[in-house]
Amino acid sequence: MIFNFVPESFWIPLAFVLITGHFTSISSSLYLHRSITHKGVVFAAPISFLMRTWLWLATGMSTKEWVACHRKHHAFPDEPEDPHSPVQKGFWSVLFGGVFHYRKAVADKEMVEKFGKGCPDDWLENNVYMKYRSWGIYILMGINILLFGFIWGPAVWLGQVLWMIFIGHVVNGIGHSLGYRNTEVDDHSTNIIPVGILIAGEELHNNHHANPASPKFSRKWYEFDMGWVYIKTLSMVGLAKVRYSTTK
Ligand SMILES: [Zn+2]
Ligand SMILES: [Zn+2]
Repeated sequence: MIFNFVPESFWIPLAFVLITGHFTSISSSLYLHRSITHKGVVFAAPISFLMRTWLWLATGMSTKEWVACHRKHHAFPDEPEDPHSPVQKGFWSVLFGGVFHYRKAVADKEMVEKFGKGCPDDWLENNVYMKYRSWGIYILMGINILLFGFIWGPAVWLGQVLWMIFIGHVVNGIGHSLGYRNTEVDDHSTNIIPVGILIAGEELHNNHHANPASPKFSRKWYEFDMGWVYIKTLSMVGLAKVRYSTTK
C-alpha cells in the first residue's frame, strides 16, 4: 500500500473527516438543495460533477429521491403528510431516527415520481450514479484504507457516511423545533444558529422556509450563510449562475 501513511495521531484522520464532511455539507446544500430542488442557482458542469460524484461516494443517495422527499416537506411542512416533521413524528424520533422516516418516505415510488420531476436524467446519472448506486461508498472505503490503513480508514469512512445523516437529522429535527424565527411562516421552522458554517448555511432553516426559491439563506446583518459565500465566489468566476433576485 504505497499511499498508506498511517497517521501518528488521530488529528490527521479527524481533519480529513471534517474537511470532507464540509464538502458533503456544501454538495448537499448547494447542489441537491438550492440548485436541483429549488432551482435557485445552476452550476457549471465541472462544479456539478464534483458535487454529484462526491455525494455518490459519501452518501449513495438517489438525487431524485432526496429532491422528492424535500419538495414534499415544503408542500406539507409540519402537516400530517410531511415525511419528517418533529411536530408530527416527535422531536427525538426525527433527531435520532430521521433516516428511517426518510427511507419510508422514498419507498413510495409514486411520491418520488410526483415530486421528483426535473432531476438530472443524463448518462452519468443513469449509467454510473444510479446503476452502481451502492458502489460509491465501497469505493470511498477503499480510498480511505489506501490513505489511512485498516484501522483509521474504516473509522474515517464511518465519519464521512454518517455526515449526511447528521445534516438531515439536525435540520429536520432541530430546524423545526429549537432556535429563533425571523418570519412567522405557517410551519414550525427555525433558524438554529445565526452563523451557518458547519452545515453550509442550512442552519438558517426558517429563512429558507420563508423564501424557498432564494439560494441566499441569510437575512439579517448578523447572519452568515457559508453556502452563499461559495455561490457568490463561483458566480464571480463564471462557474455558477443565480436564478433568483436575492434583493427582493
Ligand atoms: Zn423544513
Ligand atoms: Zn428546501
